[in-house]
Amino acid sequence: MEVIEKAPAKINLCLDVLHKRDDGYHEMEMVMTSVDLADRIVLKTIEENQIVIHSNNGFLPLDQRNHAYKAAKLFKDTYHIEKGVDITIEKNIPIAAGLAGGSSDAAATLRGLNRLWQLNLSNDELALIGEKIGSDVPYCIYGGTAYATGRGEKIQQIDAIPQCWVVLVKPKKGISTWTVFENLSFEQITHPETENMLTAIQENDYSQMVENTGNALEPISAVKQPDIKRIKRKMLQFGADAALMSGSGPTIYALCKKYSKAQRVYNGLKGFCNEVYLVRTLK
Ligand code: ATP
Repeated sequence: MEVIEKAPAKINLCLDVLHKRDDGYHEMEMVMTSVDLADRIVLKTIEENQIVIHSNNGFLPLDQRNHAYKAAKLFKDTYHIEKGVDITIEKNIPIAAGLAGGSSDAAATLRGLNRLWQLNLSNDELALIGEKIGSDVPYCIYGGTAYATGRGEKIQQIDAIPQCWVVLVKPKKGISTWTVFENLSFEQITHPETENMLTAIQENDYSQMVENTGNALEPISAVKQPDIKRIKRKMLQFGADAALMSGSGPTIYALCKKYSKAQRVYNGLKGFCNEVYLVRTLK
């Protein structure tokens, strides 16, 4: 028996950092949504009691450092499962890009094992395992559009956003999430209007949604990676309705209501960067 799970990427429509907590984590407030760019996770039970990972991407660790491995290990340990699993990760989401690719693989592994071994666990139960792997994993269990608080692991599902096209551009040079948070200064931070974003989504108001996109980490990442500003400028020049960094970057995304505009942004950016994707938002 084989189980296949889609592991979609996410973008942040709003990302705010409220304060640093006593436990060292930052208190976050985010609105995120899934997009139709996904890894594909194939799970098969094997005879030996071990976790084996394969991937088409040579840059991914295939051992206990892989988020899918961590998910399978925690799942097996939590529910005392003495079976082994073979996990194939078809990687389509750029790595270390701010698109939660690794978290989505972990979430898809948890959902998939729940089906493969017929445990009938709820998404809430899977999310509790997921938050031990990373703050974005609970969101990736549910997918869709969500309001996230805490360190990002407290999820409230909200209405789907007005459907639109998304052009994702991943600059060549990455940025580590750690460096971005390390350079965070609360005096200089610009907070997005998260409340307005939530209202726009509730009212299915595309232009208000576009107007209220914001990422408090973007100015910090833009200092480390100057391509961010250049890509944003180009996206807006080519007619994007909004252009914003996702997560801690460095991926920038453009939102376009019309496909013709999205194609123009895609073609314009394709000449400038190697990794450019034109996708839709997911419900
Ligand atoms: P996140 O919001 O989950 O941190 P991200 O897009 O910023 O997402 P990832 O693509 O998840 O970053 O990669 C972060 C690190 O995790 C990389 O250094 C990568 O080697 C490691 N990693 C481990 N497992 C995976 C996986 N299955 N897919 C992608 N990266 C993985």
